[in-house]
Amino acid sequence: VPVLELRDVVARYAPGTEPSVRGVSAQIPARGHTAIVGPSGAGKTTLFSLLLRFLHPESGEILLDGVPYSELPFDQVRSRLAYVEQETPIVPGTVRSNLMFTHPEATEDEVWDALRAVHLDQTVLALEDGLDSELSGTSVSGGQRQRIALARAIVQRPDVLLLDEATAQLDGRTEAAIHEVIRELSQTGAVVTIAHRLSTVIDADTILVMDGGRVRARGTHLELLKSD
Ligand code: ADP
Ligand code: ADP
Repeated sequence: VPVLELRDVVARYAPGTEPSVRGVSAQIPARGHTAIVGPSGAGKTTLFSLLLRFLHPESGEILLDGVPYSELPFDQVRSRLAYVEQETPIVPGTVRSNLMFTHPEATEDEVWDALRAVHLDQTVLALEDGLDSELSGTSVSGGQRQRIALARAIVQRPDVLLLDEATAQLDGRTEAAIHEVIRELSQTGAVVTIAHRLSTVIDADTILVMDGGRVRARGTHLELLKSD
């Protein structure tokens, strides 16, 4: 059973407007990296909003472990998913408070495990106050912010990690490190990423190509190149 499944999902933001998602069916396996690629306005972010229950399908259904969302309490769905936005805000405060923001009951071990997963543990250890170091706009680079956002999502121990343009604003080295993290996390859970370009998700297990609210093609990078 896939961890998430969309069955012919149609969604629009307001009555009388054009649907942003026009009949999408897809399965997200419990392990592996699924990438959603497509131009701006294709419906990628809307698909995430649907999975996160920010938006409800007008028709069709979404299932978690084979059970329709409509039969599951909101929190039961949301506790299984973590979401890293394009520009996830860093909350004013310490490394610790940022990591425990969405999961206050996290243990110290869980926090360090998450920092290790994004290769930030040595950086934080090098800071004088460790986990209690204050994060400020000036002391945190874009790459570190993105890693902290990712670590914050990992602390939640999600079964599904949703990453929206997680590497869009990063330099090449940091981008490579994040890709490595995605690869590691997809060994044990589901990682779903959004990307503008096919070239940034070469190593995804499955790529869904979206345009105009529909999935136009799906397959591995190699399969999609061949079918072009
Ligand atoms: P991207 O293409 O990278 O997803 P956009 O610039 O299209 O970014 O959207 C940025 C934000 O604005 C998103 O949160 C999206 O939901 C919202 N948005 C996009 N189009 C509209 C719209 N027509 N009306 C209201 N909000 C919108
Ligand atoms: P993508 O993430 O692929 O860039 P989106 O899912 O953001 O695409 O947008 C798909 C369509 O839905 C676009 O036409 C966009 O303008 C519209 N849209 C996105 N967010 C909103 C919103 N909050 N309100 C109204 N329309 C929106």
